[in-house]
Amino acid sequence: MQNTASALIDLSALRHNLDVIRRLCPESRIMAMVKADAYGHGVVPAARALSAADGFAVARLKEALELREAGFSHRLLLLGTLLDHAELGLCSAADIDVTVHDAGSLGAIAATAVASPLRAWLKLDCGMHRLGLDPDSFRHARRQLAALPGVTELVLMTHFSATHEMESPVMARQIARFNAAIEGHPPAQVSAANSAMLIAHPDLRLGWVRPGITLYGENPLAIQHPLPLRPAMSLRAIVIAVRDIEPGESVGYDGCWTAVRPSRIATLGVGYGDGYPRHAANGTPVWIRGQRVPLVGRVSMDSITIDVTDCAGVAVGGEATLWGPELPAAVIAEWARTASYELFTGVGRRVTRAYAD
Ligand SMILES: *Cc1c(COP(=O)(O)O)cnc(C)c1O
Repeated sequence: MQNTASALIDLSALRHNLDVIRRLCPESRIMAMVKADAYGHGVVPAARALSAADGFAVARLKEALELREAGFSHRLLLLGTLLDHAELGLCSAADIDVTVHDAGSLGAIAATAVASPLRAWLKLDCGMHRLGLDPDSFRHARRQLAALPGVTELVLMTHFSATHEMESPVMARQIARFNAAIEGHPPAQVSAANSAMLIAHPDLRLGWVRPGITLYGENPLAIQHPLPLRPAMSLRAIVIAVRDIEPGESVGYDGCWTAVRPSRIATLGVGYGDGYPRHAANGTPVWIRGQRVPLVGRVSMDSITIDVTDCAGVAVGGEATLWGPELPAAVIAEWARTASYELFTGVGRRVTRAYAD
């Protein structure tokens, strides 16, 4: 019996997207962001496909250790998290780079580094105000870490707040703060750009770049800066029922959609329990038999309903694509008032992952 919801991961798309980024910034080292199970794509197979990257970054120690245990010898970076002495010892033993993002992590590393040598990434809060040291504390910490013999390499990093507005005065201020903070540091050992920044700001492709969403095939700046990226994930579901309803009949919980004509409704075996967004509105496109048809009625835990009145030949057992190369996740994200990042990482455990080379 086939699972009714599956995610097909095209590993060749991951390799291709990494190539596209490599060509965009051939001088940079690429720290591929594989946090949150490689944005829901499955961290070990995704990292294998991305093994031409120079390093992998994750947000939890567990994820970094999993990569080491799987045999990857790349640079591994653990982004800002809470680490005690025992965990810093584990990072040192497993050769995992750590992020110094506040006074606490600075103190812990200063106390640990002699016995447990580490590579440290010192993070500036240039204006996002989420993680990182303010410019004064950063200057101080930079001096302190440079003087610690146990810190075998020091990378200066930041993370910018913009996801689409790349040219605003706010961004100019954040960039200026970073440039001031890294003055005099070897350019190979700085890191500023995520996907959007590396696309929009060639001058920020210094040292290490940290692409995430572009590796998985989405260009956050597709309109201004087109790139030949290929979506790696297809979320698919099987038709589990088809029925005809009369005008005036409603579909789904609380009757949020009512037929205005005789309508054919197909039910797909995917719901918010699989990671399809519950807030997807009536009209959200679903791809079936080579065309887009609208979602109708509220998304349930295990199923959704689509209007296939204008799509001939839909039958039980047929397959639909919720997002993938035919239907960008960004489109679904917009209909559901979320981001494709959340869609990808939200794909549930009960969804079968299948990998194609
Ligand atoms: C997630 C993350 C990235 C990658 O961002 P994308 O928008 O997916 O390219 C880069 N840097 C840091 C610190 C991150 O947390």
